[in-house]
Amino acid sequence: MFIVMIASECAPVAKVGGLGDVVYGLARELEIRGHAVEIVLPKYDCLRYEHIWNLHPVFEDLWVPWGGGQVRCTVWFGFVHGRKCFFVDPHSDELFFNRGTFYGCDDEHVRFAFFSRAALEFLHRSGKRPDVIHTHDWQTGLVAPLLFELYQPLGMPDQRVCHTIHNFKHQGAAGPEILWASGLGRPDHFLSPDRMGDDWHTGVVNFTKAAIVFANFVTTVSPRHAWEARHTDQGFGLGHALARFHHKFGGILNGLDYDVWNPETDPHIPAHYTVEAFGRKALDTRALRERLWLRESDGPIVAYVGRLDPQKGLHLVKHALDHALSNGGQFVLLGSSPEPGIDADFRRLKAFLNDNPDCHLELGFDESLAHLIYAGSDLVVVPSLFEPCGLPQMIALRYGAVPVVRGVGGLRDTVFDRDWSDVPEYERNGFVFEHADFPGLESALDRAFALWRDDREAFQRLACTGMRYDYSWKEPGQHYLNVYEFIRHR
Ligand code: ADP
Repeated sequence: MFIVMIASECAPVAKVGGLGDVVYGLARELEIRGHAVEIVLPKYDCLRYEHIWNLHPVFEDLWVPWGGGQVRCTVWFGFVHGRKCFFVDPHSDELFFNRGTFYGCDDEHVRFAFFSRAALEFLHRSGKRPDVIHTHDWQTGLVAPLLFELYQPLGMPDQRVCHTIHNFKHQGAAGPEILWASGLGRPDHFLSPDRMGDDWHTGVVNFTKAAIVFANFVTTVSPRHAWEARHTDQGFGLGHALARFHHKFGGILNGLDYDVWNPETDPHIPAHYTVEAFGRKALDTRALRERLWLRESDGPIVAYVGRLDPQKGLHLVKHALDHALSNGGQFVLLGSSPEPGIDADFRRLKAFLNDNPDCHLELGFDESLAHLIYAGSDLVVVPSLFEPCGLPQMIALRYGAVPVVRGVGGLRDTVFDRDWSDVPEYERNGFVFEHADFPGLESALDRAFALWRDDREAFQRLACTGMRYDYSWKEPGQHYLNVYEFIRHR
């Protein structure tokens, strides 16, 4: 099969969160299974260019219809750790992707609607006819309607679209002008609630809803979250659309790239280890303490790695820090936020705790440090308010750090409480709490600390059970192929 991914992120060149990991990891898995995969991305000025090999222009004059005129683009090609990537580089006054940032601009919906149109124009002009176009999140939600409304009649009759929703909270919204700009036009037609009109705001184009209605299949990133999105408020207003299209909607758990995340070979950590040589993990713990100026201690290191977004339960992250410190543990945080208020809040906390030898807050994005933290810590907290899939708990399991998570979304599908889960005891791999409040979090952290204190061997057995889990792309890769096959023959 020939699959083209159109996305706003791909690790490690353009990674803000899990979306980037998924695009890279899934593409790699599909290629290993013998399929041809190409990835189309915006050519941001802030790409990590050192990860692109042999970058060169392949389509100099791609004229993309836009806003009644045309915008000239250059499309570049390069390999990103073996993946074939095309980068769309528009030469317009708006400098869509030359803003020094991936996201966070006022005209976000225009930037990515343009990208969606440009990506399709590129496929069309370059004669690429993939069997499946796989789009991701709201940024590429307009690809499906653009394909079927504009490009199908131009000679792309057989292409099918699979759209994956990584986060329901961000749906992409714009006024009817985006319909004119992108070439779809006909607001009376497209803004109807049966199509891409937002269910709650009249006259608003909802990009994610557009994908739900027009794509041939829609997935989200865990089975549990697929259920939550349909049946609880976690669909953020899209529950009705999902119910209407339930026959083409499902959840597929994300995988982890087990080449990138492998404590046996990881180039970012000083000591390599396996279940059989679990004792060597202590060397990474020592290295982590040295790197972050933590004192030697018999307490466990609790870690949080992730975006500092309200979705992640930030009040609980801070409470985990307090609670760990007051119970003889240490705490390490690696995270960043583009929101000035949140950033300032954590900078204050960092300043306040600056001299505390039992904790370290690193505010920024640091791939290499993330690896050392997973390898060196004993517990990883993920107290999300909602979590479509979540990667940190899966990485933690892989690195023998015991996850302490809230039982929502993908966290619930991957972490099974040591004390009360209904899976057999030998499959239990962490600690889970239900309520997003302090007593909830404490109930799980206290049990983890008690096990650490009272029965270190049992704690290590729990960590090793986690390491034996297989959350690689093997199984999810097959599920996606099943979806592709299903839509190809319809
Ligand atoms: P989301 O997509 O909501 O950001 P996920 O849990 O799906 O969350 O993915 C987060 C990924 O990003 C994980 O691989 C995590 O280790 C990584 N990550 C998040 N913040 C940072 C950071 N500041 N530095 C390094 N890696 C980070």
